[in-house]
Amino acid sequence: MASLSEFSLIEKYFKQLTSPRSDTVLGIGDDCALLSCPADKVVAVSIDTLVSGVHFFADVDPESLGYKSLAVGLSDLAAMGAEPAWFTLALTLPQVDENWLQAFAKGLSKIAAPSQIQLVGGDTTRGPLTISIQVHGHVSAVHALRRDGAKPGDRIYVSGTLGDAGAALKRRLDGWHDECLSEQDWRYLQQRLLYPTPRNELGLALAGSATSAIDISDGLLADLGHILDKSEVGASIKLDLLPLSSAMKKLAPALATKLALTSGDDYEICFTLPVELAAAFESRFTDDITFIGEITAQTGIQAINAESEIVSLDLKAGYDHFST
Ligand code: ADP
Ligand code: MG
Repeated sequence: MASLSEFSLIEKYFKQLTSPRSDTVLGIGDDCALLSCPADKVVAVSIDTLVSGVHFFADVDPESLGYKSLAVGLSDLAAMGAEPAWFTLALTLPQVDENWLQAFAKGLSKIAAPSQIQLVGGDTTRGPLTISIQVHGHVSAVHALRRDGAKPGDRIYVSGTLGDAGAALKRRLDGWHDECLSEQDWRYLQQRLLYPTPRNELGLALAGSATSAIDISDGLLADLGHILDKSEVGASIKLDLLPLSSAMKKLAPALATKLALTSGDDYEICFTLPVELAAAFESRFTDDITFIGEITAQTGIQAINAESEIVSLDLKAGYDHFST
């Protein structure tokens, strides 16, 4: 969209959207941005694309869309232990709707400001509504939180609570309703789906200490599974330790557990810590992290229920145990 309207649109909504950083040599307005990375760090890069009707509902509030488009990238940086620095935005719009753009930009800046991440460039085109955001951060190459370092005996933790976003999504997709939940509970769950909280402070603290980390976008079992595959280990998970919000605790325990294990979109961090570092992190992040199990030498995920019985979850039949 190399038209005057594209330039004025960028000028109006995106050029001043974020605060300049001292390590940005050149931001929006040239053929490339010029960025300087500390000499002892490497650049961490990740891109996510959100397509209307696929990754978000076409009628979604544009402010929450702006927020979430960047939040998911910040969550990737958190899961890598990288410090957020810059992002670029490729915006494909069916038409120029100023109200939509204003709300979208407001949601973006709401999350960009506290993260001190600067918008340094992008591309604007016409077509079906699609948002691509590439985030850039920096991290020490040796301290980066990778998926391949978990060792038998390490403790497994998750941040926040699990299954909230999945419950909100289930309501929207299946028309599911549960009488146990108040309007306030639904509002809370909906907020968790629309406004996930990237765990950047935690990710930075874990860099150099955690043996592995991943952000939970596809559900705990799937994402912990990636750590286990890459690290060539297994896990034992205590189901009654899975952190649930007060809204989720009102649901039937089997349904709450199933959502906590399998539903995505929470953007919490799952990570592993050597036993000797566990106490320090538990006291520093008391309200933010929960111990849920241990890494085992035997591969696969072994789930243990409140009665100390083993429930096999990597078999399809295992999931049926939780079906409602
Ligand atoms: P070029 O033709 O060199 O690719 P563009 O006309 O696409 O340049 O963009 C002009 C400037 O505006 C570039 O610096 C580009 O990075 C920036 N830009 C374009 N679209 C966006 C956007 N949606 N958000 C932020 N910056 C943008
Ligand atoms: Mg361009």
